Amino acid sequence: MKLLTRWGIEQELRDMSIYMPGFRLSRFETGEPFGTHVWEDEFLAESGGEIRTVNYSAFRKLLKDTAVNYGVDVRTKCRVTAVESKQYTQPTVTLQSGETIRADVVLGADGMESLVRTTVVGPEKTPEWQGINAYNIFIPGDRIVGDPGLEELLNDRLLCGTFGNNRGYYSYAVPAAPSSEHKFDYVMNLWIREEVPQERWKAVDTKTVLEKMGEVEPRARKLVGLATVISSAPAVERESLEDWVHKEGRVLILGDAAHIFFPCSLQNLGVAVCDAATLGHLFQHLHHHRQIDQFLNAFEEIRPARIQYMKELEFSNLEFMTLENGPVQEQRDQALRERYKKGLNALDSDEQDALVGANVATRFEAMMQVFCYDAEEEADKWWVDWGSLQERASFSNINADFSVQVQQLATVETVNRESP
Ligand SMILES: Cc1cc2nc3c(=O)[nH]c(=O)nc-3n(C[C@H](O)[C@H](O)[C@H](O)COP(=O)(O)OP(=O)(O)OC[C@H]3O[C@@H](n4cnc5c(N)ncnc54)[C@H](O)[C@@H]3O)c2cc1C
Repeated sequence: MKLLTRWGIEQELRDMSIYMPGFRLSRFETGEPFGTHVWEDEFLAESGGEIRTVNYSAFRKLLKDTAVNYGVDVRTKCRVTAVESKQYTQPTVTLQSGETIRADVVLGADGMESLVRTTVVGPEKTPEWQGINAYNIFIPGDRIVGDPGLEELLNDRLLCGTFGNNRGYYSYAVPAAPSSEHKFDYVMNLWIREEVPQERWKAVDTKTVLEKMGEVEPRARKLVGLATVISSAPAVERESLEDWVHKEGRVLILGDAAHIFFPCSLQNLGVAVCDAATLGHLFQHLHHHRQIDQFLNAFEEIRPARIQYMKELEFSNLEFMTLENGPVQEQRDQALRERYKKGLNALDSDEQDALVGANVATRFEAMMQVFCYDAEEEADKWWVDWGSLQERASFSNINADFSVQVQQLATVETVNRESP
């Protein structure tokens, strides 16, 4: 939120999104409450932002319109079929139509099946399945409105996190697509440890999902019964990349093309926005072609450690949520129950934390690390510590006034994943 505010789209974002005041934790099978965590003013002030949910298609449109307002030429329905880079010349992008575009720099933000990634990294090992499948469950809000047991989910706007035996889900309200007659929809992201990986984004019927869920509290069962779209995907772990920049330079991958944690991870999109922010901030200092590779290499230097941290955190949160029943799970549940009984915020710490063992409170510390991070500040630090010095050394004799403009952003249309 803080980055997008600085990009000048705070009001549009507020208007199109829902504020999430915190989260509620409970047991998957029984609905036993494990407490609620409401963001405190101090947390919001320190992190400099808020947590909001958006309709993905509407959000993409906002980003596109903003880019167009800044002078970017967006071309849709043109598939890129090849990207080439050769040192000392401009990289080229070939479109399906046969057209070839020469560019100052190519930024491959072409998603999980990235063609640019293949160009940069070459052939890779098949990503390893983690023994867990994700189910993305979409419930139109108009099916919930008026239901006395469910409507509060749309009204309290909390993220619900449920912990089950080798399974769990997050669920939350999202704004409905702008074309809808109702205001909100509801989404469940369910994970189940299974013997066999699901196909990527395959449609699954309600009965199958309910069978797979097994014992689950009645409200969740009812929600799944009201779903209009359910799709599944295997959670795979791709190797962390060493090279984000083409060996000949001038071509970079970012966003899901460079790193995706697992399907429906809450942080994939935020991390992709941070990539953009870091890169944008570095390129503010551009005044010579030769700096392009320097900035791409800086990006490759700055981002991986943070991505690795976020990846480990996301996988550990998934693990924490889907613990198999046993001593560690009991310890986790007991720690949460204690807090709930004391009326504490679910992840607040008190002096007994060290004794409890299942270190729930460190999850709050981790959350602070997630939300207080500032991708633009990291880029500024690099510039102060290294970039400006390198520039002074390299260009002390050059006095050129020069700029590179973003000319084109090639993309193919995608479907709205949140609407049926
Ligand atoms: C069902 C689902 C639920 C999700 N839920 C969440 C969530 O709750 N929170 C979260 O943070 N993240 C979530 N994500 C992930 C999030 O959507 C992605 O992390 C984010 O969209 C990444 O942005 P990106 O720009 O890197 O890639 P993408 O959004 O995948 O965009 C890539 C673009 O490149 C285009 N493209 C691809 N190949 C070519 C080509 N050859 N030529 C031209 N164009 C091309 C595609 O059409 C697309 O427009 C979810 C994803 C899915 C599928």
